[in-house]
This record gives sequence, C-alpha cells and structure tokens, in this order.
Amino acid sequence: MEDCIFCRIIKGEIPCSKVYENEHVLAFLDLNPAAPGHTLVVPKKHAATLLELEPGTGDALLQAMRRIGHAQLQVAGAEGFNCLQNNFPASGQEVMHLHWHVIPRRAGDRLIDPWKQTKYASMDQMNAMAEKLGSTIGR
Ligand code: AMP
Repeated sequence: MEDCIFCRIIKGEIPCSKVYENEHVLAFLDLNPAAPGHTLVVPKKHAATLLELEPGTGDALLQAMRRIGHAQLQVAGAEGFNCLQNNFPASGQEVMHLHWHVIPRRAGDRLIDPWKQTKYASMDQMNAMAEKLGSTIGR
C-alpha cells in the first residue's frame, strides 16, 4: 500500500535497522523501543490486522519471532521476551500494517503492565460466552 509506512520500509523507500528478513517476513528495530533490541516483525504482504493475514504466512512470522527472541536472550541482555500484537486502534494499534512487537524483558523490569484480572459473575455466564464465541467461529 502506497501510504503505509511499513510497506515503504519493506520496499526500501524508508530506512530501517533490519534485524532479519526472509521471503515472507521483515524484522526491524522499533524506533521507540520499550527496551534496547525491541523488534517489530511484519509480513511483507500488506495486511492491516491479523484478520487480513494471508493463510500460510503465520508459520514464517512465528519462526521469525522465535529466532529474534532467541537472539535477544543471547545478546540483548534479556532474561525473557514478550510477543505482543495489537489489532485496531481500540487495542492500541497505531500503524495499520500487521506487526508483532518482540520485546526483551528482565525480571522485575515492569516494562509492560499486565491487564487487570476480573471474574465472570458465574460459570454459566462464562460458558455462555464460550458458546457464543465458539458458535460464531463455527459459522
Ligand atoms: P502499534 O502501536 O502496535 O501500532 O506499534 C507501532 C510501532 O511502530 C510503535 O512502537 C512505533 O514506535 C513503531 N514505528 C513507527 N514508525 C516506525 C519506523 N519508521 N521505524 C521503526 N518503528 C516504527
């Protein structure tokens, strides 16, 4: 897509600090890292969100994240890493080209606040939600 910043990076029109590339995937450092080594992993074929991801590309993305996470453990001082992905602005997505954040973590760094855990009012309510989601997927 012409006006997509990540498509322009993939085409080489905008520079990036490339970490990894293969036929389907490009990975480069985030300009505003949560920690040094914070890497973005993007499919080369434009998809705005996970809902548009071309079938067959998921494994290439996952394998790239595995390799980057492994490298962060080896050379970025990481003791762990998060793979995070936002879909639509309501979730925090700012760049509308599907991407995963691979973020190096250290114990106690508190870089990312965990979500606030809640409870369903009852097991019936929980099972009704599972049923509603499951039957929608089945359609
Ligand atoms: P998100 O909020 O999940 O859409 O994340 C978008 C991320 O892209 C942010 O963390 C930005 O810092 C990062 N970003 C935006 N433009 C660039 C760029 N040209 N090069 C590297 N990272 C970028």
